[in-house]
Amino acid sequence: MSAKGDMYYAWADQSACPIKGECGGAVTAILKYMLDNKVVDAVLTVKKGRDVYEAVPVLVHSSEELSKTAGSLHCGTVLLPKIIKKYLDGARDMKIAVTCKGCDAKAMYELAKRQQINMDNIFMIGLNCGGSVTPMMARNMIAEKYGLNPNDIVKEEIDKGQFIVITKDGEHKGISIDELEEHGLGRRANCQRCETKIPRQADIACGNWGVIGEKAGKTTFVEICSEKGAAVFDAAVKSGVLQTSAPEAKGLEVRGKIENVMVKMGKKNQEKQFTAIGEGSTRLNYIMAESSRCIKCYGCIENCPICYCVECSTKKPHLVRPGVIPPDFMFQMIRFAHIADSCVNCGQCSELCPMNIPNSLFMHAQQVELEKMFGHKPGYDMTMPVLSFAEEMEERERLHSTGSDMIFENVFKE
Ligand code: FAD
Repeated sequence: MSAKGDMYYAWADQSACPIKGECGGAVTAILKYMLDNKVVDAVLTVKKGRDVYEAVPVLVHSSEELSKTAGSLHCGTVLLPKIIKKYLDGARDMKIAVTCKGCDAKAMYELAKRQQINMDNIFMIGLNCGGSVTPMMARNMIAEKYGLNPNDIVKEEIDKGQFIVITKDGEHKGISIDELEEHGLGRRANCQRCETKIPRQADIACGNWGVIGEKAGKTTFVEICSEKGAAVFDAAVKSGVLQTSAPEAKGLEVRGKIENVMVKMGKKNQEKQFTAIGEGSTRLNYIMAESSRCIKCYGCIENCPICYCVECSTKKPHLVRPGVIPPDFMFQMIRFAHIADSCVNCGQCSELCPMNIPNSLFMHAQQVELEKMFGHKPGYDMTMPVLSFAEEMEERERLHSTGSDMIFENVFKE
């Protein structure tokens, strides 16, 4: 019997589940087991769209359809939890298995805290994630830095710190992510700041880090993260779709070291990017200037996994004047007040902003400040967010003792 914390090398048994997958197909084999044995009603994951840059969310009901979903899409920047909330009734009456990067897993917890999704009906297969690249950025850097036609690329992968592309003629070209990022290219800015590389919030966490020697590229490293994860993993092995072996000691060490380095790099990038937007009123002025491009399309709100209010305050005329573009800054202030303590740095508000406003950078910067003040780390467990604990009178008193009860002045004054 497996238990939380156990680790395995795992791969799909080719006779029972003839799918290669990204690293041996363990994830697809587990999904197949779950669908065939009615452990879940459906699987929510992604498939390749028109080209390698597009990841399309897909709800799969039978294991025959899984072949089109296998493989990793590093330019696929969709976030799956909000889809469960918006289109699948929060998994209220449907059991769903879903593949989750760190940001997906954290968003899932935050939606569950707000009772917007039913975690009892969700099985999370975590994917370790070193980061993703936006489709636009991938196309631009392949043309400019790789000297290749982006339309000729048939496969992309991230391996040993390189973003590698393969053309239709079989040409491989890889450039180190560090080098790309030194030139302002590479992963999404929020991925560069991310500290959740192995999503242990999920039921199992799967990835290629720690798979060494002959098994590299053909096997997935699985960490069991919950009792639910242990039960499903054991049952999938017993059903014959999955083969396993013990991870090599050296592999365990390598995985630990890589995670450590990546987390440190995330923190370093936070410092770099947050420093660049200044502090106090300088930061406020910067945010106001950037936000002045806002066309109030609501893309940030629609896709934010924390936003769920039925009556959105940004639509109340006494708070934000209707028909005025850019909207009054109150629009942004409402978003900060509602989200900043729970921002999981998924990057969707920047990703989908047609005006290229780095919303996620601003929100994440505020979240980190709030974390320093209150110790709340969103998306890691089911601890309720800071604002749900704030006692109004106590908070007013605290602000009063600083000489001003204006939140604006307390947060932003030098
Ligand atoms: P498969 O059987 O091929 O199944 C993979 C599943 O993941 C499929 O269901 C597929 O639809 C789904 N999927 C693919 N792309 C996405 C996406 N963008 N969002 C959500 N679901 C998706 N492992 C590491 O150890 N280190 C890393 O740095 C790392 N970075 C990754 C970055 C990204 C963006 C992704 C998607 C994965 C990353 N992985 C990383 C995980 C690794 O690439 C493999 O997915 C993992 O080892 C499982 O391999 P498999 O053959 O068992 O999966």
